[in-house]
Amino acid sequence: MIFAGNWKLNMGPKAVQNFFKEFKEANINEETQKQCYFFPQNLSLSSAIAAAEGLNVNLGSQNIAAEKSGAFTGENSLEVLEELKLAYCLIGHSERRSIFKEDLNDIRAKMNLLNSSAVSAILCIGESLEEREAGKTNEVLKEQLETALLEVPETKDFILAYEPVWAIGTGKVASPEMAEEAHLFVRNFLKEKYSEEKAKNTAILYGGSVKPESSKGLSQMPNIDGFLIGGASLKVDSFKGIIDNSES
Ligand code: PEP
Repeated sequence: MIFAGNWKLNMGPKAVQNFFKEFKEANINEETQKQCYFFPQNLSLSSAIAAAEGLNVNLGSQNIAAEKSGAFTGENSLEVLEELKLAYCLIGHSERRSIFKEDLNDIRAKMNLLNSSAVSAILCIGESLEEREAGKTNEVLKEQLETALLEVPETKDFILAYEPVWAIGTGKVASPEMAEEAHLFVRNFLKEKYSEEKAKNTAILYGGSVKPESSKGLSQMPNIDGFLIGGASLKVDSFKGIIDNSES
């Protein structure tokens, strides 16, 4: 299982220091620490790197520019992620797609940029409520996967996060069965596009209002390999609660 915290615009440098201080005090064992991933806003990344020293957790960025370098005021560059030795980056979060109008081509460009780097994507995909109600969930997931992964070779590692848009930040978590159905679809997509082995070795996370109470049932599903967690990742208590309740 992977437990990934998306901190969005929360957690300034001081809050990050406090978080990792408490995290250290929670005595989470080394193996479990390796399963933890945190995505602070970029202005807090240096503070997170310093505060997480001595821990085995993974840190990453919430977004990157689609271009490697150049005049792109306000963007975050892959070169800097590499310099900071960050191994992960969220790509295609639904907030990037809907609020910042990132389209399928933008997301494909970002995935392609990572192809030749040491940074791996956590590619977020998911349908809106309207699309689910219209019976289009699989169609939407297929299109998002097909375009984003078009030029991504089998040898490039990435993680997928199925995040139904209607479940993000709403308190409405998908049922384990509903999430499992989507995860199985995604797994089969990977099998067809790449291979049985790639499908087996690629983690597929569920995201959308995961809390300690809902993590147990979701984690029991065979194709759910972890969680992308927003609100409940902001406090060590609830983040650890999710870990403790999950079955690996
Ligand atoms: C997210 O931001 O990716 C997310 C899943 O948020 P929340 O857990 O708050 O729904």
